Amino acid sequence: MGKYVVVKKDSCIACGSCGASAPDIFDFDDDGLAEVTYEGDNNRGVTLIAADLEEDLQDAVDSCPTSCIKTSAKAFA
Ligand code: SF4
Repeated sequence: MGKYVVVKKDSCIACGSCGASAPDIFDFDDDGLAEVTYEGDNNRGVTLIAADLEEDLQDAVDSCPTSCIKTSAKAFA
């Protein structure tokens, strides 16, 4: 089953780990904080992540030191 994802940016410490694990899903804003840029999601959590990226997504979630990457089976908005 696919997942939706958002970064809770108020808890992000700009470590860069998620972007290294899943560069097709995450990028960084001007302050270095992560956000979901996958297919124009703009960190809204409304874009279903493709199945072939689920492993990368899980790696990013597991690597986040502040657990601020949130996933759900349902869209966030
Ligand atoms: S791994 Fe977590 S703390 Fe690090 S940049 Fe990504 S969202 Fe932010």
